[in-house]
Amino acid sequence: MSAKILVVEDEEKLARFVELELKHEGYEVKTEGSGRAALAEALSTDYDLVLLDIMLPELNGLEVLRRLNKEKPTPVILLTARDAVMDKVSGLDAGAVDYITKPFAIEELLARIRVALKLHPVKGAAPETNLSSSPEGVLTWGPLTLDIPRHRVTMDGHEISLTNREFLMLQTLLENMDIVLSRDTLLERVCGYEYVGETNVIDVYIRYLRSKIDDVFSVHMIQTVRGVGYVIKSWEE
Ligand code: CA
Repeated sequence: MSAKILVVEDEEKLARFVELELKHEGYEVKTEGSGRAALAEALSTDYDLVLLDIMLPELNGLEVLRRLNKEKPTPVILLTARDAVMDKVSGLDAGAVDYITKPFAIEELLARIRVALKLHPVKGAAPETNLSSSPEGVLTWGPLTLDIPRHRVTMDGHEISLTNREFLMLQTLLENMDIVLSRDTLLERVCGYEYVGETNVIDVYIRYLRSKIDDVFSVHMIQTVRGVGYVIKSWEE
């Protein structure tokens, strides 16, 4: 069963190009050129993924994302302008699973789509892989569990509420247990390859994570390695 993707983009040439490429990859594709029409379409038809431009006529992408999230949560990848850092931050905080900066290479978009479909299967849809039943999708650190397919983090069974970016940051550190990751590496993973802002945005997200995990549960999970970056070391009793 092929995944169904809604492409929301008002630049017709780009929309057409993306549509053709996605169809070529075997996806079922529909395109919409305005925010209002896109929201109506996404609410009335079940999509596995929505590619959502932010600058749209009638209703902007972030507003579409907020309403969609509230009424019918669906994985969304945002298409953003190169320097719209605030859009990216508010987009991820509003629940987008990823974003890609325009102009983008089609290979990168296809790769992001594959990852998003794998990590965020829509409930009830036939899973593309068996990731959700695989222990590979669950990372642990002592009493902490990070469940990638379910996008859940718990500590001793207590749920910890993280934004998408905080989740991705924690996931990256746990996947690289005992390896010190530089701010640049984390930035690339968490904010995307084309990110042009300050690397200290990483320090900000580390601080958020510590306030939600270390401070609340009295652990010292994320360690700072001065002049290098951050690491989570293997759990020791
Ligand atoms: Ca646009």
